[in-house]
Amino acid sequence: MLIDLHCDTILKCHMNGGKRTLASNDLCIDIDKLKKADSIAQVFALYVDMETQENPMQNCLDMLDLFYNELDKNKDRIAFAASFEDIQRNRAENKLSAMLSIEEGAALNGSLANLRNFYRLGVRLITLLWNYPNQLGYPNHQFQYKDKGLTEFGMETVAEMNRLGMLIDVSHLSDGGFYDVARLSDKPFIASHSNSRACTMHSRNLTDDMIKLLAEKGGVMGLNIESFFLCPGEPTTVSTIEDMVRHLKHIRNVGGIEVMAVGTDFDGTNHTSELADISEIGKLAEALNKNGFSQDEIDKIFYRNALRVIKDVL
Ligand SMILES: [Zn+2]
Repeated sequence: MLIDLHCDTILKCHMNGGKRTLASNDLCIDIDKLKKADSIAQVFALYVDMETQENPMQNCLDMLDLFYNELDKNKDRIAFAASFEDIQRNRAENKLSAMLSIEEGAALNGSLANLRNFYRLGVRLITLLWNYPNQLGYPNHQFQYKDKGLTEFGMETVAEMNRLGMLIDVSHLSDGGFYDVARLSDKPFIASHSNSRACTMHSRNLTDDMIKLLAEKGGVMGLNIESFFLCPGEPTTVSTIEDMVRHLKHIRNVGGIEVMAVGTDFDGTNHTSELADISEIGKLAEALNKNGFSQDEIDKIFYRNALRVIKDVL
């Protein structure tokens, strides 16, 4: 079984003028492939590019509409989930769960009222930043703003997300912002699609100190399978399953098994991984098994830890 904490499939469906469907498409994630992956829940990000979108909130709402339309069209196989109980109910009905996140806090347009409205529309996870500074804080893009923390509005957002029961996602956030979230959040938080910086020097990955702190707070980090974050090299370098195992072994040593999860980032970058699409995720489980991970540990990485955090926070 599998819970993937991050993909950009909805953006790719939206970009194509709605011609691509969620049921079956040429991307790395669709319902057919999720079924093959034995997925129980997929978090679908609504990613907004601040540089190209004049109105980030409207852009986000447009993608939200596409998301719900696609669920309607496939309601015999997939259903919305906003909680642990929803996931359990959908499983009992033999349906995949679809959860909603926003990747780019600028979609809130600097207003807690908008945050609450997105919650009411079903959003349960927000990746506070992407690669540009926004109303909430600073990105870690190329370490440009490494030590900058959250803004006043960023801190208010963390408090309100705690109160509502939403998952705070620190992937893309500056190191300073990470430590602010760790200090301020009274609930577990997550890094939905980030790897180990000790294994691969990249600003998007977490240091050992961060991994330990994230584990202490009861959160998880989702393994990102794209090559930039797994192996150094040219943009065309293909990440191997061996790279993934290398990161996962290190993360287990540093933060323990409870901090580990999956956040593929499929359909978010130019695809450069040995895993062709989500249906092949079983190959990673096999490799982990060969590398001495027990079935219990593999289950924790693949879905049980993510499910624990969803139950704790939402
Ligand atoms: Zn991302």
